[in-house]
Amino acid sequence: MPVYRAPVEDVRFLLSDVFQVDRRANLPGFAEAPPDVRDAIFGEAGRFCEQVLAPLNRIGDKEGCVRHSDGSVTTPNGFREAFRQYGEGGWMGISAPAAFGGQGLPEFLTVAVNEMVCSANMAFSMYAGLTQGALAALIVHGTAEQKALFVPKMVHGKWTGTMNLTEPHCGTDLGLIRTKAVKQGDGSYKLTGTKIFISAGEHDLSENIVHLVLARMEGAQPGVRGLSLFVVPKILPQPDGSLGQRNAVGCGSIEEKMGIHGNATCVMNYDCATGWLVGEEDRGINVMFTMMNRARLSVGVQGLALSEVAYQNAAAYAKERLQGRALTGAKFPDKSADPIIVHPDVRRTLMAIRAFNEAARALVLWTALRSDVAQRSDDDKVRQAADDHMGLLTPIIKGVLTDVGFANTVFAQQIYGGHGYIREHGVEQFVRDARIAMIYEGANGIQALDLVARKLPKDGGRAVQAFFGEVSAYLKEASTDQAMRRYVGPVAAALGHLQQATMWLTQNAPAKPDNAGAGASDYMLLFGLVALGYMWCRIAAAANGKIAAGADDAARMKAKLVTARFFMERMLPETAAHLARIQSGAATVMELPMEAF
Ligand SMILES: Cc1cc2nc3c(=O)[nH]c(=O)nc-3n(C[C@H](O)[C@H](O)[C@H](O)COP(=O)(O)OP(=O)(O)OC[C@H]3O[C@@H](n4cnc5c(N)ncnc54)[C@H](O)[C@@H]3O)c2cc1C
Repeated sequence: MPVYRAPVEDVRFLLSDVFQVDRRANLPGFAEAPPDVRDAIFGEAGRFCEQVLAPLNRIGDKEGCVRHSDGSVTTPNGFREAFRQYGEGGWMGISAPAAFGGQGLPEFLTVAVNEMVCSANMAFSMYAGLTQGALAALIVHGTAEQKALFVPKMVHGKWTGTMNLTEPHCGTDLGLIRTKAVKQGDGSYKLTGTKIFISAGEHDLSENIVHLVLARMEGAQPGVRGLSLFVVPKILPQPDGSLGQRNAVGCGSIEEKMGIHGNATCVMNYDCATGWLVGEEDRGINVMFTMMNRARLSVGVQGLALSEVAYQNAAAYAKERLQGRALTGAKFPDKSADPIIVHPDVRRTLMAIRAFNEAARALVLWTALRSDVAQRSDDDKVRQAADDHMGLLTPIIKGVLTDVGFANTVFAQQIYGGHGYIREHGVEQFVRDARIAMIYEGANGIQALDLVARKLPKDGGRAVQAFFGEVSAYLKEASTDQAMRRYVGPVAAALGHLQQATMWLTQNAPAKPDNAGAGASDYMLLFGLVALGYMWCRIAAAANGKIAAGADDAARMKAKLVTARFFMERMLPETAAHLARIQSGAATVMELPMEAF
């Protein structure tokens, strides 16, 4: 049976010591989240995840969801009760506005809790994750009536949300969407079409399901500029919020899939279903991006979450499994063999996963803090800079954390040898569950293209220049501290590679766009390494500070410094290889004629 322990101490260290969130008490909602409140939230979230959600993870995988002949879907045993506890515990609405029944607390709290929920049970976490995404879109773009009708119910988990983009003939290329919306005399619309792969499209966890659907109005232009967004509830609410008639939307089937069996992935049929416009006509893609950007960050967190739980289990197994003797002589001569954690190759694997996880968690929380600044600061310039950061970092967090997160689940599986390939230990479920995160919410190749083709040139490169400026200024200042030089030097070199790659793309992509396409994934991974390296510098500085101050957790802080050095010596050098691949351009990638494949 896999184990899970919520990384509460690590989150506390990152928020209090690395990012010093208490210095930002001037931002609305921050003063209401002092250290003791944060501790209470994380302690309770950790308990819920460890004791309620984690034990349901295997049950969900084994039982999966079942569609019945009337189109209803039941979730695995225990999910309903757990979701009731989740809603009543207030976990959905930690950061939702108090006016709608949320707690109005900063987003970084939600993000930290979401990592724990996802590590414990990714399939379960998606019912809530899609709802939080739909909430974000409705709160920003919904009319006053829509907000009053839907948001409080969703904040309490009574109703859940979905995101309906994909159709059988279109996934990445949303401009091909065919679902049709016809305006009615009363201001509502009738939607007709088929959506596929809709996560949490039908289930038994909530009284109602609020579908956000991209569709094309009659007569609208082709392509993404002709798309509008509609809210289409499964059961039509009465004006007082009580449930009325069943709407003409239903689940045609659920997919049999590789992982996340506990989450119902549905074909949704809209057969003249009643819906209402959210935001402006033909601006649906922009409205949906409020949900998608949020969802992309959440999917990045899924990569980290699965990497973390896989690491914890692999580390525990490596301390128990006895095979062979240490190269330097038996470490446990009284036992039949040494535990495999004595072997450098096993340790190398564990260190690589750990060095990623701790920095990735920092990157996620740092970006969540920026999201709080973007939403809560009263200074236009500060908000703008935070927004730039979010735009730039979103494809990096989505793409890099899920690519590496998945790879890490495979590395963790390797530590189990053959026992990792069979079901008993549960690590193969982490591999299967983690795989989807590289694909949905825009496949990672698309994230890389978004970074290179859209985010880099946006506003004359303002966001990327601000990132370079921040990291360079930090490194310059940190290099005056002797104890920081072993971290600063490698990150400065990696930043140099990233700047060279950026320059190369700026010079070589406009005339030959294939150069950008061929180098995009390497560029995204290179950027991710630099961002993680920067995080490790900040972690090391905080750890040094705590050790110097004689903190109780000095052993944990020293472990962080070793892990930071491991990252600098063994992971960051990859930036040179990424740069070389980017600079080789598209020639060999594109040269073979199609028939040669
Ligand atoms: C379990 C699961 C849950 C899902 N949940 C949802 C959901 O809740 N809501 C929803 O709307 N959708 C959902 N999806 C759909 C998912 O978002 C899409 O599968 C994904 O966006 C890719 O679309 P596609 O499958 O049509 O692949 P395609 O678009 O056909 O792409 C195939 C491959 O080609 C590459 N590619 C395509 N175009 C380009 C290009 N221009 N340049 C470079 N490479 C390109 C892609 O990167 C990909 O690797 C889910 C899918 C799954 C499997």
